[in-house]
Amino acid sequence: MDQSHDLLITGADVLTDPWTLVESARVLVRQGKIVSVTTADESAPHPSATDHTNDRIRQISLPGRLIIPGLVNLHTHAALCMLRGVAEDLGFAPAYTPGMPGGGDLTPGEACALARLGALEALRFGSTTMVDTYVHASATLPAMGELGLRVCASPRIHDTDLARLRDGQWHVDPAIGEAMLDEAVALAERWPRTEHSRLSTHFAAHAADTCSTSLLAQIAGQAQRFGVPVAIHLAQSRVEVETVRAREGIAPLAVLERCGLLGPQLIAAHCIHLDTEEIVQLGASGAHVAHIPKGNAAGGSLAPTVALARAGAEIGLGTDNMHADMIETLRWALAVARLQDGRITPDWQPAHVLAMATLKGAAALGLSGSIGRLAPGHAADMVVIDTRQAHFQPLLRPLGALVHVGQGRDVEHVFVAGEQVIRDGTPTRVDMRAVIEEAERAACSVWQRAGGLPPRGHAHVPGAPRGSG
Ligand SMILES: [Zn+2]
Repeated sequence: MDQSHDLLITGADVLTDPWTLVESARVLVRQGKIVSVTTADESAPHPSATDHTNDRIRQISLPGRLIIPGLVNLHTHAALCMLRGVAEDLGFAPAYTPGMPGGGDLTPGEACALARLGALEALRFGSTTMVDTYVHASATLPAMGELGLRVCASPRIHDTDLARLRDGQWHVDPAIGEAMLDEAVALAERWPRTEHSRLSTHFAAHAADTCSTSLLAQIAGQAQRFGVPVAIHLAQSRVEVETVRAREGIAPLAVLERCGLLGPQLIAAHCIHLDTEEIVQLGASGAHVAHIPKGNAAGGSLAPTVALARAGAEIGLGTDNMHADMIETLRWALAVARLQDGRITPDWQPAHVLAMATLKGAAALGLSGSIGRLAPGHAADMVVIDTRQAHFQPLLRPLGALVHVGQGRDVEHVFVAGEQVIRDGTPTRVDMRAVIEEAERAACSVWQRAGGLPPRGHAHVPGAPRGSG
């Protein structure tokens, strides 16, 4: 049984919730769960990290490290790493840009290879839970799960023909929606949420402009039936808002309310183009926001997170696509909030953004009782940061240093349910080189079918941005 991971970690500083720094702590883990995080007695740290795998319990000495709860990445499309370094400079919505490979161009095998690479990057950089949505989810969910992280997956559900969207046409085909919803239902039946399973599902409506209201209502019903969250891109672009207003006479948020989606089970990504009344409504609804500060800022837009937080919104963090560094995302979340406020406030501090990436993410998934904090009874999902490096020194305030100068590359070890899934920056369950090479081959073939790889020098990829990403 893979839950029997008993561990005693000593010597590291540990951030317990919310947030007490236990210095040179003893972290005891039994059967994959935290038993206690206590201050070490007199024990002097060992000079270097050493494993003592003795008969009863594995002991690991990690002086000079910082341990934080596993990060919860609330919004990803892991396979879209195939567009990395190109799509970020297109303006917007690479999925709809002529010449760009999209989900419809991927075979299940290619989607798995690319999703595995995205999951490897995320886990390697400290995400122990990912909420992932894309094509071929029934194949990519177990493929990503091979690395040992928690994945909550869904097919990308829509009934607008995305292929025709590239030509600027929002053509609704109910047969597309029906097939995708069927796939999502089958996935939910195959991967029910259980205490020991790391793989689970949700229902991901693509966006209000690419889903008809009848499809949105069906998605709400199915998510309620299975007791799982619903994810959606909300108010991501002006085009989305204008398209929905033209078709329905109301804004996307009002459409979600009308379809029974606006409530605590909703994880709404982006939430950029909201007016004042919508901010208040979203804040009071109990819905969760998946804030994508780096991706949005790179595209020239910002979600009104300061106003949303003041309105009571529950805000977690995600990376969306093209990168999966949640530690860097902490810094972006803090910076873009302060840009909006124009000053430093007690509300937007390192503790706040770490909570977004842990406690709030867990809450959005309905998993507050089991992940997101290093407290007795919670899963031992732990990220070990090597703070002995020059850029962390002098280490005056570890949480401040982590948020302001830390990176995913500083992650040394990762544990999920007490199982070590990253050791010295390398996955323990899979061959890292093989994962990378397989994904490279998949990206190459899909780009070639789409008309050729972009030039490696001065890449110029023509195409106008459209629609929701
Ligand atoms: Zn997205």
